[in-house]
Amino acid sequence: MKITYTLTDESPALATYSFLPIVQAFLGKVGIPVETSDISLSARVLAQFPESLKESQRVKDALKELGELVNTPDANLIKTPNISASIPQLKATIKELQGKGFAIPNFPDEPSNTEEKTIKEKYQKVLGSAVNPVLRQGNSDRRCTKAVKEYAKKNPYRITPFDKNSKTRVSYITKGDFFDNEKAILIKDSTTAKIEFIGKNGSEILKENLKLDKNEILDATFMSVKALRAFYAEQIKICKQENILLSLHLKATMMKVSDPVIFGHAVSVYFEELFDAFSEELQKLGVNPNNGVSELLTKIENSPKKQEILAKYNEILDKSAPLSMVNSDKGITNLHVPSDVIVDASMPAMLKNGARLWDKEGKECDTNALIPDKTYATIYEAVVEDLRANGTLNPSELGSVSNVGLMAKKAQEYGSHDKTFIAKEDGIFKITDAQGNTLLEHNVEKGDIYRANTAKFDAVQNWIDLGIERADLTGSKAIFWLDAKRPSNKIMADLVQARLKEKGKDIAILAPKEACLESLKLIRAGKDAISITGNVLRDYLTDLFPILELGTSAKMLSVVPMLNGGAMFETGAGGSAPKQVEQLVEENHLRWDSLGEFLALQASLEFYAQKTNNKQAEILANCLDSAIGKWLNNNKAPSRKVKEDDNRTSHFYLALYLTEALANNNQDSALQSFFKGIFEELNANSSKIHEEFIQAQGVKVDLGGYYELDAKKCSEIMRPSATFNAILAKIK
Ligand code: NAP
Ligand code: MG
Repeated sequence: MKITYTLTDESPALATYSFLPIVQAFLGKVGIPVETSDISLSARVLAQFPESLKESQRVKDALKELGELVNTPDANLIKTPNISASIPQLKATIKELQGKGFAIPNFPDEPSNTEEKTIKEKYQKVLGSAVNPVLRQGNSDRRCTKAVKEYAKKNPYRITPFDKNSKTRVSYITKGDFFDNEKAILIKDSTTAKIEFIGKNGSEILKENLKLDKNEILDATFMSVKALRAFYAEQIKICKQENILLSLHLKATMMKVSDPVIFGHAVSVYFEELFDAFSEELQKLGVNPNNGVSELLTKIENSPKKQEILAKYNEILDKSAPLSMVNSDKGITNLHVPSDVIVDASMPAMLKNGARLWDKEGKECDTNALIPDKTYATIYEAVVEDLRANGTLNPSELGSVSNVGLMAKKAQEYGSHDKTFIAKEDGIFKITDAQGNTLLEHNVEKGDIYRANTAKFDAVQNWIDLGIERADLTGSKAIFWLDAKRPSNKIMADLVQARLKEKGKDIAILAPKEACLESLKLIRAGKDAISITGNVLRDYLTDLFPILELGTSAKMLSVVPMLNGGAMFETGAGGSAPKQVEQLVEENHLRWDSLGEFLALQASLEFYAQKTNNKQAEILANCLDSAIGKWLNNNKAPSRKVKEDDNRTSHFYLALYLTEALANNNQDSALQSFFKGIFEELNANSSKIHEEFIQAQGVKVDLGGYYELDAKKCSEIMRPSATFNAILAKIK
């Protein structure tokens, strides 16, 4: 067994330049092989086009290799977050790579021949959430370790008080969304199904060879575009009347087929007058509202109508509902880029901020948070209701909500991209089995957004068992978050009931809103709770509760016990923190917190020790555990400010404490005496090393790229302490 460490994007990729050499030194010392695997967005792009590249420029398809590894019992993977690219991000990556001499093709927005179609298909493979679904061949177990929770209670983050008169609310479609239109069945016999669309000119096969296994849950649903547009129009009016910010919260990265369209309708409804008045010109320029206002503003740059369009744009911004801002200094609104506001991060961030967002002057204001589909919107509604009824949460007293989430085998909505379609005209979406029996059928109107979802029986069963196991192990109150009003959830709840009965267990099943209110009640009383949820709530909740409890989801332990016996350890539940890269470039300070990486490494070492019976690995795992405890107690997490401790110093202190723990271990005398020497040297030089780290800050730095980082430059930037580097090099 080896440990595989991924190389990804943005902040975690930068942190890795500093942290990985430390990992390699310590693990190397006890003979644990560490391999890296580059699954950054740029590497994934390059891997698609070997034929366009020179021999020396080609990269292997690392994701494909990892996809095979995770299905073996020996998989032991440490995974840092990667970019889930929106189209604008993908285009920026292509441009950067082309500028560096990689002769890859442009992204064809609308392919006009087979060659362009092939190119677009290749690019589709790297768009959106393309990595996690491949790697996550198991369900998910996310929690906060005891040490982290204790630390967070003693050192609560600063939550902004919630004003009970706040006008903030969560709004969703009352009739016609995915929730309302869902139909589901439990597959009786394994079959191969197809999805077709039947319009006025006959039938078109949209998907063939959809393998469905016995006892698999199949569901399908659609969002009515008429209902969606009416909803936007009404909410815009309400925001204007009440003078509260309009904010839209979607997941255009993960839900890469449906959500950009839902986003695009918001753009075209909000700027309806502009799209009407200039429809011909905008069409000529290839403006697609799904890509946001930012693309519109770029594409009109050379248009003869630029001034007129801009005047209209500003007129609408002035007279319509005030938009929430992503960056008020730069005039970037919520509607600029589909991937700027991502619901699972944006809603908790807003909620801990007194349920306020920022207006165009940068002032904090109440907001009408639009989450068009009510399936999951109600959990945020629950939090707002709870805040109004019970006041601001107190992080120094809160219990903790951990999560056991269904994730394996591309479960549910997060595996639906290849089964999501926009209706070209009024008609019928129909799924039929191999015998031609209709499984599910939906009448839709032109533009409606349709999707089919599946959940495999073995994945569901494994998830239920994992939930029961965590409940037994912790004694915490567990709740299955399933809504019996949703046909797919009803089937799942029946499977849960059957399994609970078989095992003689009693665990509550509640609809998401009620489950959320109940969980809030429990943690307000200082108790812990376990949320056992489907795939989307897994994602949303492992940001929501950690952010409310700890201020960030980066401090979470995130384990994926794979169905085939291996394991993946993800770092926290947070993303790749792009804003922090800007700060690094501006003033050479990186405030990325690597606690998630530390916890993942610790758990990965434990797993390694268990699997291989390697005693030294076990000692290293235990010493790392105590080093993390000391690191927390001594408050060595990065500060936000330049010339103070940052990501790099935080790595140094972890290495120092780990060395100390190894020097004090009483199980392996060889390790003890070796690390005694190293510890003395590190300890004696610690002020000097700290000084070298701080001295390096306060200047602009050049990473040699954004999506394709220059390894040499980044390594130099991220490892500025010659003294530390020299001592680390002695660990052999
Ligand atoms: P994000 O990168 O998590 O950033 C949101 C904010 O969370 C950051 O600005 C930062 O807040 C805080 N944060 C998250 N992790 C942190 C850490 N380790 N240390 C310190 N602060 C941390 O979320 P996003 O903007 O929604 O997503 C950015 C990109 O990451 C997207 O491309 C997204 O698809 C991807 N993503 C990947 C994964 C994954 O691979 N598992 C998961 C989620 C998102 P402040 O700076 O304001 O304090
Ligand atoms: Mg998330």
